[in-house]
Amino acid sequence: MPTANANYVDGRWSESTAGGTFETTNPADPAETVATYQQSTAEDAETAVSAAARAQQGWADTPAPERGAVLRETASILADRKGEITELLTREEGKTHAEAGGEVGRAIDIFHYYAEKSRDLGGTAKAASGARTNLYTVVNPVGVAGLITPWNYPIAIPAWKIAPALATGNSIVVKPASIAAGGAIAIFEALDEAGLPDGVANVVTGPGRTVGDAIITHEDVDAVSFTGSGEVGHLVYDKATDDGKRVQTELGGKNPTVVTDSASVAEAADVVAAGAFGVTGQACTACSRAIVHTDAYDAFVDAIVDRAEAIEVGPGDAYEMGPQVSEAELEGTLEYIDVATTEGASLRAGGGRPEGDRFGEGYYVEPTVFADVEPSHRIAREEVFGPVLSVIEVEDFAEAIAVANDVEYGLSASVVTDDHGEARRFVDEIEAGVAKINDETTGLELHVPFGGVKDSSSETWREQGDAGIGFYTIERTVYDA
Ligand code: NAP
Repeated sequence: MPTANANYVDGRWSESTAGGTFETTNPADPAETVATYQQSTAEDAETAVSAAARAQQGWADTPAPERGAVLRETASILADRKGEITELLTREEGKTHAEAGGEVGRAIDIFHYYAEKSRDLGGTAKAASGARTNLYTVVNPVGVAGLITPWNYPIAIPAWKIAPALATGNSIVVKPASIAAGGAIAIFEALDEAGLPDGVANVVTGPGRTVGDAIITHEDVDAVSFTGSGEVGHLVYDKATDDGKRVQTELGGKNPTVVTDSASVAEAADVVAAGAFGVTGQACTACSRAIVHTDAYDAFVDAIVDRAEAIEVGPGDAYEMGPQVSEAELEGTLEYIDVATTEGASLRAGGGRPEGDRFGEGYYVEPTVFADVEPSHRIAREEVFGPVLSVIEVEDFAEAIAVANDVEYGLSASVVTDDHGEARRFVDEIEAGVAKINDETTGLELHVPFGGVKDSSSETWREQGDAGIGFYTIERTVYDA
């Protein structure tokens, strides 16, 4: 039995005052316990917020390049431990080694990026009307930030909130997803070793509805950044904005790839397969709808079925697609497969749990393709969060855009086309925060803004790149005559 991971509060590793713990298990082999964490209480969260509030001014007063140096050291410690953290992510969340290693690498890059940004946090000088007036802006931290993260990128998403928040002089309290808290704990081990002052960064594990709620409603928390489901995100947004906090929510998607009649069918199938089946379809930007011109439709369905059937499913580093993260997520996917069949979609690939010794009791599901999906079907409208693709046939490009936009979400969208005019029109007309041409809907650069429109995001704020700095700072204007 692994020793329980502690919370990190006020610069010390500590147990919950309630004394309880919970375990995570390996989705490829649910009988295996991976780690044990503190089952914290609202009181533990309040203690962490108080520590963050006490430490914030001292951190804000620390020269920004010194703050950056701590982030740089954190990146280097994570890099030294990359192999071990990769293994932990694979065991706790089910990603293949290649996917988990890529994610840990991204977290390291994020810490390096914001370490460098600490020398350039914004602020501008302008010419003033008064001859001797200096006119400029300064940026200050927002204060204490509460950061609530999901399980599907258990180290990269905590990193893309923690690094900009700390670079800009905020103190933080993090509540990672219970199902895969190890990535966030690994970051805190590195921050501790890197010499972050006590109280500046705190992590408290435990149930979102109590620990998360105590953070987002605490009067000393000035900003809340939440990534997760719409169901929880709307609740968090309403509660935290009612309290007058600055709030950012990044939620789900129903991401389309439009395949035009000018597209190469082979290229389109590659793009859609990567977006739909990578990370077991458990990405907020996963492609879940291929919207295909009627002239390309039959050939595309054959090609995407070939791609889906060729994917080798299994654990660890020898296979291309791992299990779903939990029994609940697996059940959710299988339920959507049933609903799609009942609604009249035509199952062309997968559709169930794979059979064979290597799958054991693991939460595996086959890469699944439905053809003849109608835009009104639930499988075409609701986020499944598993490796399930709906293929929808359309008559022309205008109908493709209309169908793509006719959902509540608007996170990422792509088009596969050989026609530059269509590509430009797609970018102009698609309702999505991220638009991609001849590229999969998944995969993000860390130095450009990321966020959705409509029900995918609170829209007011973006994450990553300079947008990450913007959320965690207040810009003020100085007239110095
Ligand atoms: P979730 O169930 O909404 O949980 C997200 C986080 O919120 C977890 O840490 C959870 O804690 C916590 N939480 C739960 N109830 C809470 C409450 N009442 N108050 C405060 N916090 C609470 O989401 P998930 O299943 O972890 O993640 C999958 C979802 O995230 C998908 O919908 C996906 O599309 C979305 N996502 C979006 C983006 C993006 O950038 N747009 C990126 C990645 C994922 P517990 O774990 O303890 O329940």
